[in-house]
Amino acid sequence: MSIEIPRPILKGARALVTGIANEHSIAYGCARAFHELGAELAITYLNDKTRGYVEPLANALGAQIFVPLDVSRQEQTDALFERIGKEWGSLDILVHSMAFAPKEDLQGGLLNCSAQGFGQAMDISCHSFIRLARASAPLMKNGGTMFTMSYYGANKVVPNYNVMGPVKAALEACARYLAYELGPQRIRVHAISPGPLLTRAGSGIKDFDRLLAEAAQRAPLGELVDIMDVGYTCAFLATPLARRMSGETLYVDGGVNIMA
Ligand code: NAD
Repeated sequence: MSIEIPRPILKGARALVTGIANEHSIAYGCARAFHELGAELAITYLNDKTRGYVEPLANALGAQIFVPLDVSRQEQTDALFERIGKEWGSLDILVHSMAFAPKEDLQGGLLNCSAQGFGQAMDISCHSFIRLARASAPLMKNGGTMFTMSYYGANKVVPNYNVMGPVKAALEACARYLAYELGPQRIRVHAISPGPLLTRAGSGIKDFDRLLAEAAQRAPLGELVDIMDVGYTCAFLATPLARRMSGETLYVDGGVNIMA
């Protein structure tokens, strides 16, 4: 059956984008792409320290809702969704783009990872996606699309990715199970797996420069991806052009993942 595509393709869509720390953040690429393609935005920032970096970006994109969100504080999640419910009454797109692990647990190798550090990494980087999905779903009255950011290290061993490997593996599995549970509500769920990008989170990985250089060298497309590549992919997946796709992990990595 053919479909009607609005022009611009996200005209009228309402998108919640979490995880912008600065202009290098993957989430910022998503917000920019959505804005360019006609969506309205709700943008969150972690805390007062990051607010100064995020606020000018949110203003430039005309974000209608701009509130703090530390996912380890449930009251902030509640306040965010209450605000979206009051102001918009509906939601079409959710972007979950965040990760955290204590430095000593991230850099010390999986064998040495503490139970507490593992739990914290899992809670902030993975279970928070379930919490945001649970709060978003009732607002996605006409269906919707949810995204979370994973990495190749979920499926293959990437030296120095350490505890984030198992955490991202769980995250990709969550995307599949959420896609299954939310499918009847016409909510589609995807994990996006970008190639390495120089961001604050990226620079927490030991020898990240080497990872970047190797990716550029191995990519069939011959170059690194940028945050807009990720944003445009999410934008496409949020349109009816991708209406029968759900539960996928989609690589946006210039093809690096196909190489031996
Ligand atoms: P980034 O540092 O710009 O973004 C990470 C975000 O996580 C920040 O905005 C930070 O505020 C947020 N965050 C951390 N703890 C939080 C909490 N308790 N509550 C709410 N937000 C919290 O780096 P990024 O590279 O844009 O990372 C975004 C996502 O993309 C992460 O899941 C990361 O693992 C993933 N990813 C990154 C790369 C890369 O190479 N940079 C590649 C693949 C996937």
